[in-house]
Amino acid sequence: MDWLTDEQRALRDMAAIFAQKEIEPIANQIDLDEHTPDSLVAKAAELGLYGLYTSPEYGGSGADLVSVCLVSEELAKASPSFAGMLTVQMVLCPKAVEILGTEEQKQRILPKNSSGERLMAYSQSEPGGAANIATHLTKILPDGNGYRIDGSKLYCTQGTAGTYLVMGKSRDRNGNEGYGCAIVEREDEGFRVEPYETKLGWRGTNTGPISFNSVFLIEDDILGNLLTGGFSHRAANHANLFAHVATSVGCAQGLFDKTIDYVKQRRLYNKDMAELQPIGYWLAEAHAKITACRDLLYTAVREFEAGTMAPEKPNICKAFIGETAFDVCVKLLQMWGGSGIMNSTGVNRYMRDARAKCVAEGATEMHYAIIANQLLHGQPTLVPKNIVKSAT
Ligand SMILES: Cc1cc2nc3c(=O)[nH]c(=O)nc-3n(C[C@H](O)[C@H](O)[C@H](O)COP(=O)(O)OP(=O)(O)OC[C@H]3O[C@@H](n4cnc5c(N)ncnc54)[C@H](O)[C@@H]3O)c2cc1C
Repeated sequence: MDWLTDEQRALRDMAAIFAQKEIEPIANQIDLDEHTPDSLVAKAAELGLYGLYTSPEYGGSGADLVSVCLVSEELAKASPSFAGMLTVQMVLCPKAVEILGTEEQKQRILPKNSSGERLMAYSQSEPGGAANIATHLTKILPDGNGYRIDGSKLYCTQGTAGTYLVMGKSRDRNGNEGYGCAIVEREDEGFRVEPYETKLGWRGTNTGPISFNSVFLIEDDILGNLLTGGFSHRAANHANLFAHVATSVGCAQGLFDKTIDYVKQRRLYNKDMAELQPIGYWLAEAHAKITACRDLLYTAVREFEAGTMAPEKPNICKAFIGETAFDVCVKLLQMWGGSGIMNSTGVNRYMRDARAKCVAEGATEMHYAIIANQLLHGQPTLVPKNIVKSAT
């Protein structure tokens, strides 16, 4: 990528060193323990990773999205799970606040997220379908001079989060209904973090249910417009999708790098494994696919930043690159034979993380449905026009 600026290159190299020094030695343990150590979060914070995409006036470094994707890709080479969690806290949550928040909210929330003192989580998914918001039961309703939020959410990637952005059906004092976004703090009375389940991939993320039992919110706890805040931070969603896709590229590249080292030193039937007929082909095929995915991603990111992007591009990247990265990981893992199936070698987690990435941030088919909507109806969204019939 000859076109990278010196600054972008420097950030990428810094992330690569951090990944090799601080993440790689514990990446397999994160997967086995289903836990990301606080010490790693603290080191990432010290490096400024949580504030990378946040403006300097809110404690961040205001890096561009290309840099954010380069960093995400490098970290994912060591731990796709850690890198996936980071995108939520580095891009999705803070950018949503930066786009929709009042000055007071930005000053209250963003510097603490940037410094790692109080990280954020994003919670939309519910049992009726993560994207199918018409079925969502969480409600943000007026109460006295504030609001109350009731309901529960699934699959919230939290890590050690303190501040939660929670989407829910909302109603204003005039009876108008919509889909809003509440800012809920972990200590708020009535808020509970439920035990999280063990899972296939992304095992270091503390992804699990949360619930709200009449949690009181003041006016300042509503992010953006009460009736539209739940879906009006599309730019944050798109930027987050690109960073997330960068972790899919990094995931495939990380396993590729380990696999080529393995193949070069492995002897089979008194020969170098690399000389076996399908091996070179498989490696070349994987390299071609990863390279094509990376080119697609960074072309789209640059179009996004230039304002020239086709509306369905983030969805194309998410669906196509996510599935391609998974396919590549399946083939690469096969080259490890039995040692790839054993957890001790620390390579099968790449395939499992790649699969999780095809569901997290929207399942592949949902993204293809959005692309189809754009092609057929000129509307790159799943959100029906008349979104919420009743909030009660
Ligand atoms: C590791 C992990 C972390 C996550 N973190 C978060 C988080 O932090 N916050 C959060 O809110 N959510 C989070 N999620 C939830 C995630 O966004 C949803 O799981 C995902 O969007 C799929 O939604 P669902 O599970 O409700 O599946 P469903 O909506 O029930 O879909 C089931 C299947 O149906 C198909 N399908 C779905 N929609 C369509 C469509 N429109 N057209 C055609 N086929 C379709 C797909 O094959 C899909 O896999 C996380 C999920 C995982 C696995």
